[in-house]
Amino acid sequence: MNCLYNFFFVPCTDIFNKNSDIMRLLLLSNSTNEGEEYLSWPQKEIQSFLGNYPISAVFIPYAAVTLSFDEYEAKVEACFSKMGYHIKSIHNTWDPVLEIETADAIVIGGGNTWQLVRLLHDQGLMDPIREKIQSGAPYIGWSAGVNVACPTLRTTNDMPIVDPLGFETLGLIPFQINPHYLDVHPEGFGGETREMRIQEFIETNPDVYVLGLREATLLRREGNSLQLIGSRTARLFKKEETIKELSSNDDLSFLLDYTPEIPYY
Ligand code: ASP
Repeated sequence: MNCLYNFFFVPCTDIFNKNSDIMRLLLLSNSTNEGEEYLSWPQKEIQSFLGNYPISAVFIPYAAVTLSFDEYEAKVEACFSKMGYHIKSIHNTWDPVLEIETADAIVIGGGNTWQLVRLLHDQGLMDPIREKIQSGAPYIGWSAGVNVACPTLRTTNDMPIVDPLGFETLGLIPFQINPHYLDVHPEGFGGETREMRIQEFIETNPDVYVLGLREATLLRREGNSLQLIGSRTARLFKKEETIKELSSNDDLSFLLDYTPEIPYY
């Protein structure tokens, strides 16, 4: 990557737009809806995205903190196998880079985004995963797996429990997503609302779009087209622009065309 990181990050058009016409992403705000089984709500969309093939995907469990990577692998495999697919967790492989290069698809699960980014850097997997997705391999991510599809991790809701060794992430889209976007402001709660936190982000990053992705919604990218799926709207923020509520009837592809020119600080 020919970009400058650390104190400021200059998003490069060639990163975001590299092979953009063949990129395939399924970005889920959350894995589970209250009272439902793990990964059950997006099952139909995952099947429509991966198709009727015996896909064997590499799974990245690094966001798990209170769950072991083995437990996480078993939990996700139980869901994927019901759909006719398989996952193999990267932590159980001898040559992680080779596994990425030869995988049918890449899946990154939720948890703590800071730890996920740290381990992706530690294992040297950020570039191989990006290159794999840019070569057309399908990518599925939920929650923290959505955060890392963005240019940086800076619109996560997670606590910085470890040093991520840099904020930059996979940059599979040129805008930021805030997963699990919440509208509620509990009575008596004196902290910032989610909207206030995002307002702070766009104040300091005026050229960057941030999409608040509510529970049980997802984004599907097929090349240069981007669609919101789910019955809730998504909330779009950008400095100097009126906040917009976008629905599944809207074409969100314009978000893929827009590359921020003002550097991230
Ligand atoms: N902790 C979330 C998840 O992966 C990510 C976030 O809220 O930013 O479930």
